[in-house]
Amino acid sequence: MSEKVALVTGGTRGIGEAICKNFLANSFRVITCATNAERNARWLDTRISEGYSNVDCYVCDVGDYEECRSTVADIERKYGQIDILVNNAGITRDASLKKMTKEYWDAVLRTNLDSLFNITSHVLPLMLNRNYGRIINISSVNGEKGQFGQTNYAAAKAGAHGFTKSLAREVSNKNITVNTVSPGYIQTDMMASIPKNILDDIIGQIPVGRLGRPEEIAEVVYFLTTGGADYITGSIISVNGGLHMY
Ligand code: NDP
Repeated sequence: MSEKVALVTGGTRGIGEAICKNFLANSFRVITCATNAERNARWLDTRISEGYSNVDCYVCDVGDYEECRSTVADIERKYGQIDILVNNAGITRDASLKKMTKEYWDAVLRTNLDSLFNITSHVLPLMLNRNYGRIINISSVNGEKGQFGQTNYAAAKAGAHGFTKSLAREVSNKNITVNTVSPGYIQTDMMASIPKNILDDIIGQIPVGRLGRPEEIAEVVYFLTTGGADYITGSIISVNGGLHMY
């Protein structure tokens, strides 16, 4: 097969950036999207200064159906294909349900769950045309076990599991696999809002005894794009240092 083209949403920071770097190191063409135009430009400059020319970065809000449609259409025009899709972009807006605002609920469901439909529904026809695709959705341990203050986030991430399993049933006979990688607590900007005492408490509950690194998620995501993973579909792969076992 020719050069693989990967679209990674939210690839300008944290786990998404680690996934992009891993894919670039493995000679994929990497396209990402995020909402902050200045950061996007810096991200692209950095990759180019690292010697990569097979990169692109779009301003696109994954919660916006029309923006996703036009972004994917543009990628198709420019590059002709998307072989690998990583639905990674996500946000948190934590509050107990008693204090949860409609704004917090909607923002999290829109970015973490609607996004799966907004992006994947436009990418899937490209994969079906080429009879090949690898779709990887980034969920969370808290979508598996629930978490105080995260009814919105846990609902969205658990929704991603249902989306993954259903789509896997629809397309796996077309050489398109659909899986979820479900990280535990990973050292990224997303963790910055967690107070130190709560973070220490969380680390105390992780059998491995530390937070995860974005690169440790990227390795698992990369594996799912390799031939060694061709028989894995509809799976939820936990990478959480033993925080949640089932
Ligand atoms: P970060 O906050 O570090 O990065 C999030 C990325 O997503 C940024 O590039 C951000 O760019 C982009 N993004 C945010 N909102 C949108 C949007 N509406 N449209 C497009 N891009 C967007 O997050 P992490 O790397 O920590 O998390 C990545 C994924 O992993 C998320 O789905 C998260 O839920 C999940 N996860 C993270 C865990 C952790 O401990 N860190 C644990 C479990 C799961 P910009 O702000 O410019 O839009």
